[in-house]
Amino acid sequence: MVVIHSITNRSIIIKGEEGHPHEVCGYLIGKHKKGRKNSGMDDIFIITDFMVCENINSDRPDIRFEISPKDHMAATKQAEKQKLDVVGVYHSHPNHKAYASPTDNDYAVERTIYLIYSIFDSKFKDLKAYILNQVTNKLESTKVSRTVKSRRLKLKKIQAEK
Ligand SMILES: [Zn+2]
Repeated sequence: MVVIHSITNRSIIIKGEEGHPHEVCGYLIGKHKKGRKNSGMDDIFIITDFMVCENINSDRPDIRFEISPKDHMAATKQAEKQKLDVVGVYHSHPNHKAYASPTDNDYAVERTIYLIYSIFDSKFKDLKAYILNQVTNKLESTKVSRTVKSRRLKLKKIQAEK
């Protein structure tokens, strides 16, 4: 599952609406806790910050996104400053549902959270989260929980609630 702080979620939605009809993309910053399953599907991600990246795909920025290595380094630094990690990637699907496309699946890596925001006509419609199932090698949706709690990470509490 993924827990995302409401302010972070809201900020990403605004970026997605502003960037429409191009795909917007960026890194998700927070904490990752491995679960017990080999598939990785019971891993827990807590997202408290994000970094907007430039979509450097110039051919089809409406249906593809690409992030430069320079932006990856910047995100890593931004996370390190907060003693956090880069735990995932978000991108928008302009005028498409928040499903994991075959391309999304091809580029997915293990132990990473993927958030897909569906934006129709510059208006947010839906958010879905995916983890790469390491047994089937397919992106599978996982639960998204929004929280308004303080920025402090309450991983232990969330695990206890499970
Ligand atoms: Zn996609």
